[in-house]
Amino acid sequence: MSANLFSLFRARFPADPATTFLVEPSGAALSYGDLLGRSGRLANLLRGCGIAPGDRVAIQAGKSVDALIVYLATLRAGAVHLPLNPAYTAAEIRYFLEDAEPALFIGDPARGGGARPLESLTAAAQAMPEAFADAPRAPDDLAAILYTSGTTGRSKGAMLTHSNLASNAETLREAWRFAAGDRLLHALPIFHTHGLFVATNVTLLAGASMIFLPAFEAGEAIRLLAQASVMMGVPTFYTRLLAHPDFTREAAAHMRLFVSGSAPLSAETHRAFEERTGHAILERYGMTETNMNTSNPYDGPRVAGTVGPPLPGVELRIADPASGAERPPGEVGVIEVRGPNVFKGYWRRPEKSAEDFRADGFFITGDMGRIDAAGYVHIVGRAKDVVITGGLNVYPAEVEAAIEALPGVAECAVIGVPHPDFGEAVVAIVAAGPGEAVEEGAVRAGLAQSLAAFKRPKRVLVVDALPRNVMGKVQKTVLRERHAGLFGGPGAEETSETDGGRFERSGKSGSPRD
Ligand code: AMP
Repeated sequence: MSANLFSLFRARFPADPATTFLVEPSGAALSYGDLLGRSGRLANLLRGCGIAPGDRVAIQAGKSVDALIVYLATLRAGAVHLPLNPAYTAAEIRYFLEDAEPALFIGDPARGGGARPLESLTAAAQAMPEAFADAPRAPDDLAAILYTSGTTGRSKGAMLTHSNLASNAETLREAWRFAAGDRLLHALPIFHTHGLFVATNVTLLAGASMIFLPAFEAGEAIRLLAQASVMMGVPTFYTRLLAHPDFTREAAAHMRLFVSGSAPLSAETHRAFEERTGHAILERYGMTETNMNTSNPYDGPRVAGTVGPPLPGVELRIADPASGAERPPGEVGVIEVRGPNVFKGYWRRPEKSAEDFRADGFFITGDMGRIDAAGYVHIVGRAKDVVITGGLNVYPAEVEAAIEALPGVAECAVIGVPHPDFGEAVVAIVAAGPGEAVEEGAVRAGLAQSLAAFKRPKRVLVVDALPRNVMGKVQKTVLRERHAGLFGGPGAEETSETDGGRFERSGKSGSPRD
């Protein structure tokens, strides 16, 4: 039997082709029959253009039904879907096109690269027949290449196979009890694993439906929640909902499930959400390379500040970053995963792929974490974000959680900044909640009871908002660059730093790690 992911979806489609798959805020709807017909027409067009199984089809387009049809038609043609963030500039696009060598690039012709506009392709597909025999694929054949959002160095193409995507969608469908009656509020972008695979594939596998929004706007989301049963979001969706006066217990009353991921959901937000709505947000953890690895349980405690136990079929261990030796239970180390969800490697980068896998097949995620006595995984930050101050490791997530628990604080990011004495100093960048004020001295005083002296920030900088990317991830690289001169060097700011503890020098003076 073919392992083509689309064939798997198709086998699960509702018996009645008139069943709704997708509705847009305008009221426009797409049935499962429409989906099959439109993706069939486009797959015929792709084949007619000479797109062969294994060829890459790149697309840079805003979120739309037409763009979603491209994903499905590409799968059906046996080609490899390669979505690109619409924010990428022409220069960035050039890199992806050179690296991936797509047979077709769908996008704005002004961007170069021989782009064909999505509108003209969609129009041309209308003249094609609907019937299309999906290209047979083996489980290990590529379904998609997603370039990682990599904040340093060049972005790498993660090769995801049909069986990677199928196994993870099936696991999540079961874990989150997705059923045909579900309607998902889909406000995530579809060039990223969260909106494209987690949200869309799970909906398709369940024969369920979605409300398809071009972007997230809290007021509109609150209005549409009345028609939804599940919402998937990044943490900023939830903080924005909470900041909206119309977001009441009634607004969320009939919802079945709220899922969060792609960035850490603060324990404060988790608690505030539960207090407001009675719903405990289900936080899960994954990445482009691995699909989803862990999830808080559907039944059972969804613990704030944790990402839950490993999903069924996923092996997860905590290892010493340097030696790879497994760490004793409860200790912090690098998170490594193995399972059918884990990607095949980086496109045309065998050395980088070899570096990121252990000999026994575990993928080194680069996230630092620990597993508690209940088996729940706690993420303490990216390995490159760990601050080494006076030779001691400080895990940003712990300090961020302590600061976010203080009155008036809306959000916070903790970074390491080069320091002449400590190598790196812990620095907190803090934003106040609406109508609230936060003051450096109060934050520092507020931490005196909760954190050991070496973990407390040497400086607390108050800002209006943290820099985040479109997935809601705080851009710590931007913050590190911005504040690199805080304790000396060019552009140094005044500091009245004092410290109660005694620390060794780390010998890393002035050398920011990344
Ligand atoms: P991406 O490949 O863009 O999906 O980014 C994956 C990274 O996002 C992971 O390696 C984590 O660092 C982070 N991430 C995803 N989900 C969570 C979560 N629930 N809590 C903390 N970090 C997360």
